[in-house]
Amino acid sequence: MSKKKQDTEDCLACAQTSRDNIFYLQLHLTQHCNLRCTHCYIEKPAGVQPAVQDRVKELQPAEILDIIDQFDKFVKLQSATAKIYFTGGEPLLDPRLPEYISAAAKRGMITMILSNGTLIDDEKAKELRHAGLRIVQISIDGLEATHDAIRGPGNFARATRALDVCHAAGMGTTAMVTISKLNASEIEGIVDHSAQHHVTRFALGRLVPEGNGLQLQGQVLSRDELKVVFSKIKRLQRKYKGAMDIAIHDPIWMTFTGVKNTHGCSAGKSGICIVENGDIMPCRRMDYAIGNIREISLAKAWYSGKLDAFRFREGYEGHCGSCKFLEQCGGCRAVARAASGGKSPLAEDPQCFLYRAAKDKGVN
Ligand code: SF4
Ligand code: SF4
Repeated sequence: MSKKKQDTEDCLACAQTSRDNIFYLQLHLTQHCNLRCTHCYIEKPAGVQPAVQDRVKELQPAEILDIIDQFDKFVKLQSATAKIYFTGGEPLLDPRLPEYISAAAKRGMITMILSNGTLIDDEKAKELRHAGLRIVQISIDGLEATHDAIRGPGNFARATRALDVCHAAGMGTTAMVTISKLNASEIEGIVDHSAQHHVTRFALGRLVPEGNGLQLQGQVLSRDELKVVFSKIKRLQRKYKGAMDIAIHDPIWMTFTGVKNTHGCSAGKSGICIVENGDIMPCRRMDYAIGNIREISLAKAWYSGKLDAFRFREGYEGHCGSCKFLEQCGGCRAVARAASGGKSPLAEDPQCFLYRAAKDKGVN
């Protein structure tokens, strides 16, 4: 195995630093969801319950358990720590979720769910904890009016309840905001709200105008607006130091704040995603399948060569291609691909404010 191919780190829809030596799998149990958020990158069929043909296409329980097993062996071979994110759609809609969590926890994986939180009450939180769940990530997309405008009435209160009951049940909680023009001005309030509800970690992802999010193309932040948001968060990081981890794994954020020993975007580097029909993707925010788990093993897909462009960062276009931060950052490939109209995942990251600043200083 080449040295480059031994790179094994993490991302949660974004990268973690390589110090952690964590490899993640984001596993989508279903595409169905009880909400219809305006910015969701997953196209949703009508109705909460899956139609029969969709249930047939979706991974079956034995297949999901086999994926967990494959992932366990794959990560152990790389001497990394396995982190598994169960998501959807809404993962709570899968009645077997506790069984999958338990299977992963028994193999020593860090277990996490990505949820809208609306279906998690006190009893459900205890059940998930008992199954071996360690971390619950809940989406918070603004203060109450904004969140409910995006996610539906009453859902801010439900999401906040989920943070509370999961914390009370002894799990770590992450509040995750998808940042756009719709909520950028509320960032301080969202972080404060998260801290008030004992959130362990605050996370942020940029709006990717794909799927349902296409209609929100005009809400994507400009470079300068993103810089303003990141500057505010930097101040909040100081305010909550020691109380709440503001650990944003966006490559531009990590480059902006000088995170060391990181490769930025985790696509092809330290994580992979399998969606509900078995398609394997470098990142779920990028609608770009490299194979299907029903036809190729996880290990074979990883080393198939189809991820080499991301892994070795060759052929990157525009600013990213000539950037001195390319190895440590890489830009968000999902944002870049969406901005290119779905044509190229190697396009430049259009929200980068660092390249221009570095060029102005004559260092890029
Ligand atoms: S493409 Fe974007 S969201 Fe996906 S892993 Fe890379 S930085 Fe994270
Ligand atoms: S130009 Fe691309 S690689 Fe360079 S800092 Fe910006 S996003 Fe990162």
